[in-house]
Amino acid sequence: MGAMIPSAPPPKNGKFKLESSVKDGEAVFKLHGMVDEDAHFASVLATVKANLESLKRVRFDLGGVSHVNSSGIREWLLLLERLYLAPPIEIVNVSSGFVEQANMVSNVFSRPGLTVISFAVPFYCEKCESSKTVVVESKALKQGKQVVIPDAKCPKCFAAMELDSVEEDYLSVIRKLAGG
Ligand SMILES: [Zn+2]
Repeated sequence: MGAMIPSAPPPKNGKFKLESSVKDGEAVFKLHGMVDEDAHFASVLATVKANLESLKRVRFDLGGVSHVNSSGIREWLLLLERLYLAPPIEIVNVSSGFVEQANMVSNVFSRPGLTVISFAVPFYCEKCESSKTVVVESKALKQGKQVVIPDAKCPKCFAAMELDSVEEDYLSVIRKLAGG
């Protein structure tokens, strides 16, 4: 009950927060909370611009994002557009909030030089009400021509867990990214 496990899903409705770091030619931006009209990415652009010559990669970690609304997705698309000079972009831990939007808005992750590395897939146990997030690499979700979301076992009662999101959203987004 209420125990914090490191893989707990992001808290619902937390305010937008951005963490940035630049190290060894890589700029990492971690997004947290709600991506909405309060999501301002000016500091991302400033950081990338200031380090443009030494940057080999820009990485966005979306694992802490609880929800994305239409204003937030506009800010995100604008950011990608303004990052046209940036080196290759890698996206990790795509959360279900982003998946939902990526399913409705076609170009959330489509941009030359952008790769979605992994998804943070939320699971829920109906038996004991535990939840956990499993990070799955994009390539592991594609099995030949099939797209499959792996099964998850509850860490507490070992029952099979349910996907705590709309499965079809994930599948269609992954198919889109796979170009299929
Ligand atoms: Zn359980």
